[in-house]
Amino acid sequence: MSANLLDFDLEGLAVFCEGLGEKRFRATQLFRWIHQRGVSDFDQMSDLAKSFREKLKASARIECPPVISRHESTDGTIKWLFDVGNGNAVEAVFIPEDDRGTLCVSSQAGCAVGCRFCSTGHQGFSRNLTTGEIVAQLWFAEHFLRQRLHSQERVISNVVMMGMGEPLQNYSALVPALRVMLDDHGYGLSRRRVTVSTSGMVRMMDRLGRDCPVALAVSLHAPNDELRDNLVPLNRKHGLADLLDACNRYLEHAPRDFITFEYCMLEGVNDQPEQARQLVDLLQHHGGRGVSCKVNLIPFNPFPQSGLTRSPHKQVLAFAKILSDAGIVTTVRKTRGDDIDAACGQLAGDVQDRTRVGVRIAQQRTVMLKQVPALAPGAKEN
Ligand code: SAH
Ligand code: SF4
Repeated sequence: MSANLLDFDLEGLAVFCEGLGEKRFRATQLFRWIHQRGVSDFDQMSDLAKSFREKLKASARIECPPVISRHESTDGTIKWLFDVGNGNAVEAVFIPEDDRGTLCVSSQAGCAVGCRFCSTGHQGFSRNLTTGEIVAQLWFAEHFLRQRLHSQERVISNVVMMGMGEPLQNYSALVPALRVMLDDHGYGLSRRRVTVSTSGMVRMMDRLGRDCPVALAVSLHAPNDELRDNLVPLNRKHGLADLLDACNRYLEHAPRDFITFEYCMLEGVNDQPEQARQLVDLLQHHGGRGVSCKVNLIPFNPFPQSGLTRSPHKQVLAFAKILSDAGIVTTVRKTRGDDIDAACGQLAGDVQDRTRVGVRIAQQRTVMLKQVPALAPGAKEN
């Protein structure tokens, strides 16, 4: 089987080229053709020796998963669905803004964490994406957009690993993909413009801090363990104290940075003023010195079977005000692309669930509504 060159970071490509008997700097040229020029046909790589191109044709390919569909929102958001085989499909979303273009990238077909408010979580888990499948989302979107805009310049300025999946549960494929994004010969994105979002895989956060300290977003969603145990099942293993300790250790690798805490606003579940005050206390006093952070409140994006509702806008603003009055920089995320189901937590390509997580969540839901009083008021049965 030939190698998919999208699977390699520059170092990996250099090793591959050496295996073909070529000098390392040839790998840099090849890498630039692939990522900066978006070329997948070796014959078009005009400054590579013919003999090298022939070797590449015999042993390598540049393969992007087939695009099943493209949806465009009235607000300019674009969502692509990629076929990753065996009935699985994953999504990537481009979100244009005045000063940036952000691509939201998937890391897994499905997700095994099973958060209650997330439609990917409800679908269960099929498999990890390969490095090539992660990189391909950026490769395809970037060159599609450049062509459409007749631009030689970079269109995507930021990447957020906030599509389908828990990126830190696919660590070994994630890190080379991040390196391709950061590489000056690849996409040249600065460390702060690439964000990994995690539901709180504590050990993997430590590894990422050492290996590739990009910007980190942590999905918090609750100010205490009792509630977080129910919303983010991972919390039962690593509670909030462990998680916030890990955040502070992460910041040691990137001292001028901050953690972005994501908090999905669920009506009657986690949006009460006393919960905002509890959150302030947690973030400002944990371990004596608190955590250097920003908070991003995400209005819940409903999907069928969630049994949850979005907090009223007024409630979100009141919650935000308590945080900002206490000195925590707080933003409310604008919902983008919801007319094409491209908003946070609505990404739900197609997943052949091999874990029955989806079934488990559905079964647990009734139990949880009874167990946790805080979940009951906003949770509407449909
Ligand atoms: N697995 C990672 C990254 C993907 S989810 C994580 O959980 O961080 C990206 C963000 O969208 C997370 O903060 C997640 O909690 C949030 N999210 C999930 N479902 C949502 C929904 N239905 N509405 C709003 N935000 C949601
Ligand atoms: Fe997985 Fe993130 Fe969705 Fe939780 S919110 S189920 S971790 S994708």
